[in-house]
Amino acid sequence: MSERASQSTPPGKVWFVGAGPGAADLLTVRALRVMSQADVVLHDALITDELLDWAPGARFIDVGKRCEGRASTQTDINTALLECAASYRQVVRLKGGDPTVFGRLDEEIDALDAAGIEWEIVPGITAASAAAAAAGHSLTRRGVARRVDIVTPRLGRGEDPAESDGWAEGLNPQGTVVLYMAGRMSAQCSQTLMGRGFSADTPVVAVRAASWPDQRVECSSLGQLASTGLMTDERPVVLMVGRALASRTASRAEMHRADQAVRSRLGQPAASTATVEVLA
Ligand code: SAH
Repeated sequence: MSERASQSTPPGKVWFVGAGPGAADLLTVRALRVMSQADVVLHDALITDELLDWAPGARFIDVGKRCEGRASTQTDINTALLECAASYRQVVRLKGGDPTVFGRLDEEIDALDAAGIEWEIVPGITAASAAAAAAGHSLTRRGVARRVDIVTPRLGRGEDPAESDGWAEGLNPQGTVVLYMAGRMSAQCSQTLMGRGFSADTPVVAVRAASWPDQRVECSSLGQLASTGLMTDERPVVLMVGRALASRTASRAEMHRADQAVRSRLGQPAASTATVEVLA
């Protein structure tokens, strides 16, 4: 696979590195150190080019699983990881957000364990944290929300479609629910939550492309979302649902300020119109 490959070279070590939500400066210092010493970086589709600058000496392999076009299967990715670990000393598997959250990490770890390859995880900032920061909210709030559930309604292969509402099992209106991979199912998810005791006026904040230049924060309620759904495109979205999101839901100015702060940090021009929308 590479000129560095040799029969006598011991297998390399694989670092599962959290890339954070998108912005290159939302990588941890440890991630930066590991990246800077990488021989090869296998990365997902949702990675900025800027992030890849942190690994100047590395070869890059895009193993992103895209919705359309040629997509790597999990088996392809596992195979690529094993090949890289046999050929390179320091292998970085860069995963969006935090590798331990909806990252199919276990499947890759199992493949490495089976081959006796050493690995280590470097945590990253998950989308829920980036979305909360973008919206200027805390996910927990004293006396209001003492738990945060990170959930996806998306079914994995082999899961029973009859259990398609099973994701909402045990969710509690006294907590905050953060939904991943739910953009296209936002209306259905809202109905499911209302069917499980969440009132129609429960606040919802949707953050699209958190920390990216086209970040967008939209405020709504479960009732509104159940009837209108969220406008979606190919950009990633998280939905934060719960009373903890109430205090600033009505404050467009507050979120506009957070949005402008991101733009200014990224050197983007200030938005001429607020990119914060209140649905309906
Ligand atoms: N490991 C990632 C999650 C991967 S699942 C993490 O910890 O964040 C992919 C889902 O994450 C997307 O469908 C979306 O719901 C969410 N997501 C990832 N990056 C995001 C971003 N920058 N803004 C909003 N949502 C994001």
